[in-house]
Amino acid sequence: MSDKSADLHVHTNFSDSTLSPEEVIKTAAAKHLSCIAVTDHDSVAAVPLCMEYAKNYGIEIIPGIEMTVEKENKEVHILGYFIDWQAEWFKEKIKHIQDSRVGRIYRMIELLKNEGIDISPDDVFKIAGCGSVGRLHLATAMYKAKKIKSLKEAFQKYIGFLKPCYVSHIKFSPEEAIGLILKAKGIPVLAHPGLMGNDGYIDELIETGLKGLEVFHTDHNPSQTRKYRKIAEEKGLLITGGSDCHGMGKGRVLMGTVKLEYRYVEELKGFINLRG
Ligand code: AMP
Ligand code: FE
Ligand code: FE
Ligand code: ZN
Repeated sequence: MSDKSADLHVHTNFSDSTLSPEEVIKTAAAKHLSCIAVTDHDSVAAVPLCMEYAKNYGIEIIPGIEMTVEKENKEVHILGYFIDWQAEWFKEKIKHIQDSRVGRIYRMIELLKNEGIDISPDDVFKIAGCGSVGRLHLATAMYKAKKIKSLKEAFQKYIGFLKPCYVSHIKFSPEEAIGLILKAKGIPVLAHPGLMGNDGYIDELIETGLKGLEVFHTDHNPSQTRKYRKIAEEKGLLITGGSDCHGMGKGRVLMGTVKLEYRYVEELKGFINLRG
């Protein structure tokens, strides 16, 4: 059996990780990972950079993305693997989603003002740098301005899903995200189902083209991992797993906490080859 291992859920500073593509690759090498999937929120900009740096370390890069959608008043994250990241139509489509994230930050800042929390939009955009701007950047700005004691507090009190200062993304359904990923020749996978609060819609997602479940995730406890592995096996879904590393964005570098056996990557590749 191969002792190669993979991490199929890694962010860069092109979304809300603190690590640049080069730092991501160096970390992956230090953690002895053979393969990582770059899965930024609504962005594929880091993919070619990661591929370039990865050559020096013999690390394999799977081009990916993580898209946020809403289903029955719950936030759902859909991962896309092996997407055609060079397709112009795809880049244009996600550029539109990325742009909508900017207006959303201004609106959340307005709502925070009502709660007596003054945050400068420029500070948030500075923290986001080249990245797809999001709530982790906003929470970091709140923390730096000493408005909260921890990032967790920002989400629990203010900007967590449906909390008073939360503003939703542009309306985008799981069906649309799955359709987009399939059209870009990718494999749509439900991210961290254990964190989504309700997973009763998995069957519905399968009907619309979902192909896999992220069974292994840093925040899944052993019983969740068992549960989702069983569901994946019963329903014939592909199994993936990853750390969801955000660099220091989540307090510590998570790469290496989930080491997915490489046979799961081979199964993803087998699926792509079969589909042709
Ligand atoms: P957004 O894409 O702007 O909706 O922000 C989603 C991101 O915020 C997630 O990918 C995480 O990085 C972060 N996030 C969401 N909820 C929490 C939480 N409770 N604690 C820490 N980070 C969170
Ligand atoms: Fe994130
Ligand atoms: Fe996620
Ligand atoms: Zn993620």
